[in-house]
Amino acid sequence: MRIFVAGFQHETNTFAPTKADWAAFEAGSGFPPYRRGPVIVEAYRGRGIPIGGFIDLADERGWSLVGSVWAGANPSAHVTEDAFERIAREMIEDLQAARANGGVDAVYLDLHGAAVTEHLEDPEGELLARIRAVVGPEVPIVASLDLHANVTAQMLAQADGLAAYRTYPHVDMADTGRLAGRLLERRLARGEREPIAIRRLSFLLSLNAQCTMMAPADAVYDELKALDTRHDGVLNFAMGFPAADIAECGPVIWGYGDGAEVAVDALFARVDQPRDQWRLDLRSPEAAVREALSVAATTDRPVVIADTQDNPGAGGDANTTGMLHALLALEAGARYPGKVALGVMADAEVAAQAHAAGVGASIDITLGESVPTWGGQFSDAPVKATAIVRQLSDGKVTLKGPMGMGGTVTLGPSACLDIQGVLVAVSSLKTQMLDREFFRFVGIEPEQMKLLVNKSSVHFRADFAPIASHILVAKAAGPMAADPADLPWTRLPATMALRP
Ligand SMILES: [Zn+2]
Repeated sequence: MRIFVAGFQHETNTFAPTKADWAAFEAGSGFPPYRRGPVIVEAYRGRGIPIGGFIDLADERGWSLVGSVWAGANPSAHVTEDAFERIAREMIEDLQAARANGGVDAVYLDLHGAAVTEHLEDPEGELLARIRAVVGPEVPIVASLDLHANVTAQMLAQADGLAAYRTYPHVDMADTGRLAGRLLERRLARGEREPIAIRRLSFLLSLNAQCTMMAPADAVYDELKALDTRHDGVLNFAMGFPAADIAECGPVIWGYGDGAEVAVDALFARVDQPRDQWRLDLRSPEAAVREALSVAATTDRPVVIADTQDNPGAGGDANTTGMLHALLALEAGARYPGKVALGVMADAEVAAQAHAAGVGASIDITLGESVPTWGGQFSDAPVKATAIVRQLSDGKVTLKGPMGMGGTVTLGPSACLDIQGVLVAVSSLKTQMLDREFFRFVGIEPEQMKLLVNKSSVHFRADFAPIASHILVAKAAGPMAADPADLPWTRLPATMALRP
């Protein structure tokens, strides 16, 4: 068995301000940087990402792998046409070379499934179709997908098997790469494509409602696994990325195997009704801070507020100020001096100012940015204040939580600033607050705080739920809509509801 492997990862928030160009893929940032050739197999073997899981399974089976392109960039607005076409062209060139040079028995792709480019609504479907055109109908193509994939009819038609994550926070990425490998084995054992059943939901699901650590998603995925066992199939439920203005945005359930029809119908019924199981409690910044302050008086453990609409994992730039304004206006820092913390705010200029001034200095800052959100609106004004520099850092952070998988992230010159008793972790580069180390690297001990504000939607829960007394979700103005109904959709079909 000789398997061609490649990857393309981007989650596109078409309402966000910044596009992903070629430089964004070269840097990778939250992802490994762009690589091409046999090096991707060596680099990702044993890594906790989908292709890592696929490579591990291939090693166990004795399959040989032909590495091509692996390209990923942080969530943002559209992928540029230039970047996508370069990635696709290199992949196709490598595939043609591999076929001429020893042949290709199967293809595995490590995809996200919610990319949109400047020129294509469904670039993953297009990529699969171009690969299919090269290998023909008989060579199996399988891929792993993110739980937030907006799965299209084209993707399902072109691939022999698509496997999606079953956790959010995503702690089963490598397992999903393995699952794609098992779909390949099932397809090979059968000698033809497995039967597939597909049902699309008719409402969008907010990211905040998708967390599989809470009801109802936890029980839904338990049901999915039970149905797999009962029907000897492979079911998938991709909940969709509800900020991509494309015709096929939304949740999809699909399954493979002889019992797929029955299993997909059963899971569809569990997800579709009752609709109100998916409804959300979203608070204004002021309401969230008021409630957090009153709860904090009754517990020793921190109350965590998710600043979800500035989530850098979904197109935010970690620079909006609505939550900080609310903390200052409601004097949270005066109530609990040095025990209220917000992170991570990306502001390279303020971080440089703090480094120039040194620890203990008072500096006058203009922190954060008013950024475009949607429908011509902008987020809150920067915070103008006098801040004390509490600590400095070079921004190298080794992650310790379940989402970080021991990786090291570089945030550039960083600082802890004290603004009227509120500690703000300020970095030069953006990151999602998905690991407690993103507070600790500037001297903030999250466990000792009364109130934490995290720039994240759901991923923070993996590392923060164990220490939190309560978790609230706030809607401060920012580029990622917590409620899809707030967005000015133009491409969704009229039959698609914006809320459950
Ligand atoms: Zn995701």
